[in-house]
Amino acid sequence: MTSPSSLQTDASAALFDRARAVTPGGVNSPVRAFNAVGGTPRFIRSAKGAWLTDVDGNEYVDLICSWGPMLLGHAHPEVQAAVAEAVARGTSYGTPTVPEVELAEEIVARTAVEKVRFVSSGTEATMSAIRLARGFTGREIVIKFAGCYHGHVDALLASAGSGLATLAVPGTPGVPASSAGLTIVLPYNDKVAVAAAFAEFGDRVACLITEAAPGNMGVVPPAPGFNAFLAQICRENGALFISDEVMTGFRASRQGQWGLDGAVEGWVPDLTTFGKVMGGGFPAAAFGGRADVMAHLSPEGPVYQAGTLAGNPVATTAGLTTLRLATDEVYDHISAAGETIKSAVADALAKEGVPHVIQATGTMFSVFFKDAAVSNFAEASEQDLPAYTAFFHAMLDQGVYLPPSAYEAWFLSSAHDDRAIQQVLDALPAAASAAA
Ligand code: PLP
Repeated sequence: MTSPSSLQTDASAALFDRARAVTPGGVNSPVRAFNAVGGTPRFIRSAKGAWLTDVDGNEYVDLICSWGPMLLGHAHPEVQAAVAEAVARGTSYGTPTVPEVELAEEIVARTAVEKVRFVSSGTEATMSAIRLARGFTGREIVIKFAGCYHGHVDALLASAGSGLATLAVPGTPGVPASSAGLTIVLPYNDKVAVAAAFAEFGDRVACLITEAAPGNMGVVPPAPGFNAFLAQICRENGALFISDEVMTGFRASRQGQWGLDGAVEGWVPDLTTFGKVMGGGFPAAAFGGRADVMAHLSPEGPVYQAGTLAGNPVATTAGLTTLRLATDEVYDHISAAGETIKSAVADALAKEGVPHVIQATGTMFSVFFKDAAVSNFAEASEQDLPAYTAFFHAMLDQGVYLPPSAYEAWFLSSAHDDRAIQQVLDALPAAASAAA
């Protein structure tokens, strides 16, 4: 499936050919390849603020923001200066350093975690959190929700078995049945299914992991009280509640999704995972939580976990600088920009009679191409994908880079100023018409 572009994209096309000769699918992470929407992914040469420039010289307003991390926009001068200074001092020592302590202090101050351990990717964070939960509880079963993505961890790339509370099957070739068979996959926002799983397997469940607010099936907010219910049923059953804030952390709000519900409803996760924004555009991620649980981690406790580049001084400097600059004003700006874009998208699609639902949690939102609210993955899957494909390409042709999949959040930054927002608004009528 390819879609002709009115832009000149010869250089991207040539690079994509070269890339496919040496890399599976031509990309280093699947959704970058445009498989869902067809066409040639743009090879980006540089980025500044809200803008991407590709190798053909086309400019786009970036509504991907590196899939979440770039909260302050690209090449933020203060982040760049701090990184340049850090690089000048050397890039990796394999010893403890100052910025990792300061970043840990910043994360502990802003969130519900008491102690935190750094890793290099969100996948490592969730993988390690699950190992720790299993080591802490002495149990093996993990509960997750369909449509929640937690990275490419074996046990978490699992598909639901037949029936509600059954052990899962591998979600991809390469995952052993024995790994997936220790996972239970349930429909999101479904308290009855969660209660049934705990009733059947409660004394074998090490942990329940959920996206704090799912963003990987599009944004599907937890029903009011759902996260509190999960925290409570885990506690009652001696299992740990793992809140995956790799996407929502320091993005949905200053305190992540927890700031929007846990801090309000008065519960805390046993463990939380972070990534994306906390790395300021570098590979940094973390997991943390209750001090008594984290004490089980090596070298303090028996559960082994390690990383050559974990807490890397350049990455933690970028993350620390980003978080220190991520003030209430940043979130207010992103929120206001989001409101402007959401209402313009709704108006444009309504004018053309294109079914749509816009859902949000804090400053994070996505657009579903269907006409009813989405509360779980089955409902998210009922979208009009050809309509999204037409919309996506029409936006891209007019210089707006949306996620090349209908199942993703749209991300903004504090650098999305009036000019960038106006370019998005100007592109909407033709894109809505293409989707009709
Ligand atoms: N958890 C969530 C909620 C994510 O959105 C992602 C990535 O998108 C991950 C975990 C995995 O993070 P990474 O891609 O850094 O491994």
